[in-house]
Amino acid sequence: MLFSALFFMIDTFNNNIYQQTLSKAVLVSGIGLHSGVNVSMRLLPASEDYGIRFIRTDLEKNNQIEALWSNVSDTQLSTTISNNFGVTVSTIEHLMSALSGLHIDNLKIEIDGPEVPIMDGSSKEFVKIIDSIPIKNLNKKRKIIKIKKEIKVTKKDTSVELKPNNQFSIDFEIDFPSLLISKQSCQLQLINGNYKTDIASARTFGFEEDVDFLRSNGFALGGSLDNAVVVGKDKILNKEGLRYKDEFVRHKILDSIGDLYLAGAPILGYFYGNKSGHHLNNLLLRTLFSDVSNYEYI
Ligand SMILES: [Zn+2]
Repeated sequence: MLFSALFFMIDTFNNNIYQQTLSKAVLVSGIGLHSGVNVSMRLLPASEDYGIRFIRTDLEKNNQIEALWSNVSDTQLSTTISNNFGVTVSTIEHLMSALSGLHIDNLKIEIDGPEVPIMDGSSKEFVKIIDSIPIKNLNKKRKIIKIKKEIKVTKKDTSVELKPNNQFSIDFEIDFPSLLISKQSCQLQLINGNYKTDIASARTFGFEEDVDFLRSNGFALGGSLDNAVVVGKDKILNKEGLRYKDEFVRHKILDSIGDLYLAGAPILGYFYGNKSGHHLNNLLLRTLFSDVSNYEYI
């Protein structure tokens, strides 16, 4: 069995203590992984303390959804948020991960459909697009959520944890029956700006044997070898192979960074995930915010 461990550092807060947004609007378009619908988004500069908000431009009213843990309404296969009127945006996690990795605190996202484009299955394209325009510093300081107590959520043999730590570090373990994945673990500290090189390119993945079932249930309708790693019985079906030897666990980290950014601010603490996913990530944030003594804003 393959067991790989990695230790490297990436940066969550960089040295800039001020909130950031984009300096101008940028257009992104592509197909939704599950809906199969073509969608266009405009990422627009936003002011201090605006946070990250989606605006469904295909709807005339009640079309604003804040990217917050309390708005998460579905975690089956992807993270979906909704507002009080039942308006949703799904598969937000890879874009949220890119915004966290690039320290974008405030952003208005106009989207003309129900699902964020999957791009190449990772957050690499979002990073490239955002990186192509200058970041704008705002006048207000960034707030950070400092973890003060250990919090753990367990479900069967899966779990997630947050612990006090003076860096944002992530430790993740997966264990799949497929010998092409099996056990992988990855630990990193978010310090030196290598989200782009070490995490952003890790693609989402699925199993060839699940494709028919997913499609017959209305999932993965936009999925292809261009936007997911597909694991067959004895080989990876993508001609180009893997981008990292342990791309699977790195993608789980990419997802977790995106889901945790729904806290509404960067987290200062240690995160551990064991075979977990979007559902437990959201439960962890709900548990965190259920008791004000669990955290403080700094
Ligand atoms: Zn993902």
